[in-house]
Amino acid sequence: MKDRFIPYKIYLEESEMPKYWYNVRADMKNKPAPLLNPATHEPMTASELAGVFCEELVEQELDDTTREYPIPQEIRDFYKMYRPSPLVRAYCLEEKLGTPAKIYYKFEGNNTSGSHKLNSAIAQAYYAKKQGLKGVTTETGAGQWGTALSMACSYFGLDCKVYMVKVSYEQKPFRREVMRVYGANVTPSPSDTTNVGRKILAEHPGTGGSLGCAISEAVEVAVGTPGYRYVLGSVLNQVLLHQSVIGVETKAALDKYGVTPDIIIGCAGGGSNLGGLISPFMGEKLRGEKDYRFIAVEPASCPSLTRGVFAYDFCDTGMVCPLAKMYTLGSDFIPAPNHAGGLRYHGMSPVLSQLYDDGYIEAVSVPQTKVFEAAEEFARVEGILPAPESSHAIRVAIDEALKCKETGEEKTIVFGLTGTGYFDLVAYQKFHDGIMDDYVPTDEELAAYAAKLPKI
Ligand SMILES: *Cc1c(COP(=O)(O)O)cnc(C)c1O
Repeated sequence: MKDRFIPYKIYLEESEMPKYWYNVRADMKNKPAPLLNPATHEPMTASELAGVFCEELVEQELDDTTREYPIPQEIRDFYKMYRPSPLVRAYCLEEKLGTPAKIYYKFEGNNTSGSHKLNSAIAQAYYAKKQGLKGVTTETGAGQWGTALSMACSYFGLDCKVYMVKVSYEQKPFRREVMRVYGANVTPSPSDTTNVGRKILAEHPGTGGSLGCAISEAVEVAVGTPGYRYVLGSVLNQVLLHQSVIGVETKAALDKYGVTPDIIIGCAGGGSNLGGLISPFMGEKLRGEKDYRFIAVEPASCPSLTRGVFAYDFCDTGMVCPLAKMYTLGSDFIPAPNHAGGLRYHGMSPVLSQLYDDGYIEAVSVPQTKVFEAAEEFARVEGILPAPESSHAIRVAIDEALKCKETGEEKTIVFGLTGTGYFDLVAYQKFHDGIMDDYVPTDEELAAYAAKLPKI
């Protein structure tokens, strides 16, 4: 039996909650490459970006030097309703694995949207309201971001137009209904409400849509409707900044008990939860104060870091968004439809991409079935029903803990448990029925997409 001087759940008092977001770019020697104008290939200026995004968010997007951003009081007040999120010591999982490793997870599924996305949604809605806007537009894939943004918009009395990837719209009707509870207007994408949607429908009738396509529609509506701006739930620098609240809380909680992690693990779709979780620890590593191993976990079916190219690419299918330099599989890459999790984006946060390219982060990709095995192993002892996305991190945390069992090392592992899986039970069903498939794209397929990257 391990010495249990650390509680199962480490909470912070309200007074110990973060008062600032930490901007890891301030400590990066190689800054992430600037966003480029898709027409001129020149760096996007603040005024160009302000046509698409809220003004203060544009400032945050472009600011590579301010280390700490005070969190506005209105956002801190909202955070208090569902934060601090618990940092849990996984004693039961450790015992089941028989590992000497010490495992902690930061659980972000404790709110109705069921994921970490609310941390940035409330910030983005706040700045939109402050600017006097009427509403915002966005896309959603699996539905977590749309749900989080709907909650944030209803809190601040903003209109919210969500373009939801059509397959998800049809497969996850309950997610759509939650958004409607919060007053959002949800349209399946591609739709006939935009030029880009009509074009895609004409070229690919019957398509189930994609995130890249839904982004194009949401941007077109935001740019063309007075009093509206577009907001995005991941990938962008500003989103990583807001999500740093996860890492700042985690660090404060661990510091309270004098615990220093050896390995920090997170799943990586667009990179926001992982970027947020590791930010303050990465800052210490970048400043040469401490060393940590950081591991990004992605699905084998959508392996942007492990098998993608570090290059400028479009963020959307319609090529209306700025170009970002990132690890990418190509903007028209669409992962196999049987892919269960929400980690289906073709690109990756430019901040994480740069840190990975500079050797500060490791990345692994894991097949679906192995992810669901880990999810179930975790659920059966720790109780929480994890989201498939989060279960990618569980998989690698378990693998690392099992390595410790072999070597006898007492490493401290922290992983991000980003959300709950109540809307993913069809995927769990496939897993139980043994019909989950582990499709992995071939080198030839990936090379064909890579060949179509814009030449910059
Ligand atoms: C959206 C989502 C992710 C992936 O997004 P990132 O930006 O990579 O963090 C992971 N887990 C859950 C539960 C999500 O909803």
